[in-house]
Amino acid sequence: MPSLNYASPTTVNEAVSLLAGAPGLAKVLSGGTDLLVQLRSGRVRPELIVDTKRLPGLIGIREEDGGFVIGAATPGAMLEAHEGLKRVYPGVVEAMDLIGSQQIQGRASLAGNLCNASPAADSVPAMIAAGAVAVVAGPDGRREVPVEQIPTGPGRTSLARGELVLEFRLPPRPARASDAYLRFIPRTEMDIAVVGCGVAVALNAQGVCTQARVSLGAVAPVPLLVSAGAEALVGSRLDDAALARLDAAAQAACQPITDKRGTIEYRTKVAGVLARRAAAIAFQRAQGR
Ligand SMILES: Cc1cc2nc3c(=O)[nH]c(=O)nc-3n(C[C@H](O)[C@H](O)[C@H](O)COP(=O)(O)OP(=O)(O)OC[C@H]3O[C@@H](n4cnc5c(N)ncnc54)[C@H](O)[C@@H]3O)c2cc1C
Repeated sequence: MPSLNYASPTTVNEAVSLLAGAPGLAKVLSGGTDLLVQLRSGRVRPELIVDTKRLPGLIGIREEDGGFVIGAATPGAMLEAHEGLKRVYPGVVEAMDLIGSQQIQGRASLAGNLCNASPAADSVPAMIAAGAVAVVAGPDGRREVPVEQIPTGPGRTSLARGELVLEFRLPPRPARASDAYLRFIPRTEMDIAVVGCGVAVALNAQGVCTQARVSLGAVAPVPLLVSAGAEALVGSRLDDAALARLDAAAQAACQPITDKRGTIEYRTKVAGVLARRAAAIAFQRAQGR
C-alpha cells in the first residue's frame, strides 16, 4: 500500500514544485470537505497532499481595482461575513452559503467546490454568472482562466499537473447591477442540487437590461454558461416575453441525466423555472430593491 505524505508549503513556488514533482497522484487540499470524505471512502488514493492554507493570500478577501479578489481556500463563512462582497455580489455569497452546514462553512472553499468538479456544485454557476476568473499557478507560471473553463466533466478539470488555483477575481460591477443564485433540492437544506441557476444583470437608468450572464448547474456534465439565456434578457425590462425566452433558452441548454433526484424532463422544466426566478431576483437587486 503506498504511503500518504502531507506538505504544507509557505510559498507558491514550493507548492507547484511539490505538485509537479510528485511521482504518483498529488492532491491539493483546501478545506478538505470533499477530499477527506473521498480519502476515507478510498475513492482517491493520493501519495501526496499539498495543503494550501499557509500560502500567502489563499485565505482572505480584498477589494482591488474596483472588484474583489477571493483567496482560493477562503472558507464560506468568511464570504458570508464580508459585508462589501455581500452587497456587490449577493448571488456568489448566497450560493456559497448553501453549501453544507455551519461546520462545513468553516472549511469549504470556492476552489474546492470548483475543482471537485461536481456538475451540481453550488458556487460554480454563481461564479460563472458573475464572470469570475480563476488565477492558476503552475510550472509554466500564472494564467487567468474564466471559471467556466475549469470543469471538463464530472470529477475532471482543465488544470494541468502541478497547477493549483490561487484566487478568484470578481470584476468591478457597474451601478444598477447585481446577481442571484437559486437551487432546487427535495429537502430544505443539506442536499445536492437537482438544478442550480445563477443570473447576473446590469441595467441602465431606465431599468433596461444592458448586460446579462446566465449559468445552470446539475443539468449537464459541467456547469453551463447559457449565452442564449443572456440574450433573452438584454434589451428587456424582464417582461413576460423576455421571461418566456429565458425559460426556453434554459430548457434548450439542458443535457441532464435521470437519477434518483429527478428525471431528464423534470430537471429540464425546473431549469426554466429557476432561471425565471433567479432573473427576477437579480433584476430586483439591481434596481436596489
Ligand atoms: C455534509 C456536506 C454537505 C455538503 N453540501 C454541499 C452543497 O450543498 N453544495 C455543494 O456544492 N457542495 C456540498 N458539499 C461538498 C463540499 O463541501 C464543497 O464542494 C466544498 O466547497 C469543497 O471545498 P473544500 O475547500 O472543502 O475542498 P477540498 O475537499 O479541499 O478539495 C476538493 C477538491 O478540489 C481540489 N482542490 C481544492 N483546492 C484546490 C485548489 N486551490 N486548486 C486546485 N485544486 C483544488 C482538491 O484536490 C479536491 O480534489 C458538501 C460536503 C459535505 C461533507
